[in-house]
Amino acid sequence: MNRPQQITVLGATGSIGLSTLDVIARHPDRYQVFGVSGYSRLAELFAICVEHRPRVAVVPDERSASQLQADLHSAGLATEVWVGEQGLCQMASAPEVDAVMAAIVGAAGLRPTLAAVNAGKKILLANKEALVMTGDLFMQAVRRSGSVLLPIDSEHNAIFQCLPSDYARGLGAVGVRRILLTASGGPFRETPLAHLQDVTPDQACAHPNWSMGRKISVDSASMMNKGLELIEACWLFDAKPNQVEVVIHPQSVIHSLVDYVDGSVLAQLGNPDMRTPIANALAWPERIDSGVAPLDLFAVARLDFERPDEQRFPCLRLCREAAEAGNSAPAMLNAANEVAVAAFLEGRIRYPQIAQLIEDVLSNEPVVAVDELDAVFAADTQARLRAEQWLSRNN
Ligand code: NAD
Ligand code: MG
Repeated sequence: MNRPQQITVLGATGSIGLSTLDVIARHPDRYQVFGVSGYSRLAELFAICVEHRPRVAVVPDERSASQLQADLHSAGLATEVWVGEQGLCQMASAPEVDAVMAAIVGAAGLRPTLAAVNAGKKILLANKEALVMTGDLFMQAVRRSGSVLLPIDSEHNAIFQCLPSDYARGLGAVGVRRILLTASGGPFRETPLAHLQDVTPDQACAHPNWSMGRKISVDSASMMNKGLELIEACWLFDAKPNQVEVVIHPQSVIHSLVDYVDGSVLAQLGNPDMRTPIANALAWPERIDSGVAPLDLFAVARLDFERPDEQRFPCLRLCREAAEAGNSAPAMLNAANEVAVAAFLEGRIRYPQIAQLIEDVLSNEPVVAVDELDAVFAADTQARLRAEQWLSRNN
């Protein structure tokens, strides 16, 4: 057996981060944790250091660094503490690192993820916002550095598993007609439209099938998540937006499907537990135990499908429009959504206003070409500014 692979987990204290550490801990002969990061839950980050003994831990500021350093010192641990975005980028691109789990939520994960890409690391991509924001630039960087990009999002990991290994030749060339992206429909799939006005952040975060961080939970309720995933799928698999169809499948057992020209439809099924795609990507092209229980089809009993209702889920339409517009539109969509979701979680706006705010930003900000990273950040900043103005006007 070769030496264990060294893994950096960006966003280790989050839902995906903890699931990743769980899978890694099942295979100490294959994987070692090189680096971890946390943003707010310092006590959890310290507990992770005690259990996984990483070489490096990254925290957001000097104050958290001194505290973590003191705790590590008392516990007799030699983990080094690095700080801020620069620390994240350094930890993601360190020469010792083989693979990086990109599991920071939102635009905050972009620079560290790109640092890992540019260093040619194997990338396990959970941070879909990074790819949505930068699209073509991200994929160009992957090709330039020769980094291996593996999707963690359960749908994209499912599609990846259902595609032939030479899919990079083009979907048409390998006989794919379309991609069917499944969605649970979230907690508000059947809520009367008039009641959506009054739903609370906790209701939005009570996902029927998946346990996730709060931002992606709200995105799942609004189906913004599925729209971001549509854009993500276009970049990962070189698909046109109209080659990706969203299918509501409330049981979340089929994680997505690929429809071929000969009439075959391949699907990947499993229990809704992110450790499956994480283990799949970590070990690819091999298979390892993930700790996920085997799928009991008799307990599942039935699989249902529905067409999404765009009146109920306006964010899905906004995402399709941004995907078609390309250029700076997806970065602005993402930024506006991050501001809107944070405002909703803080109780500053009502749930239907998330889509209203995003629509205001997208219909008033011009779409511009983004041929370099600075242009993406400029679009992101401009959209956040406009979103904040909307908030002050509508509060
Ligand atoms: P989470 O909120 O549980 O965890 C987020 C992590 O990012 C935490 O470690 C947090 O400390 C860190 N973080 C937050 N803000 C930060 C900042 N400004 N700078 C640096 N670090 C910061 O989120 P999650 O559910 O684990 O999701 C993480 C990513 O994975 C998201 O992009 C999400 O869309 C994607 N994803 C998650 C799931 C899931 O099942 N949870 C599924 C598919 C994709
Ligand atoms: Mg997903």
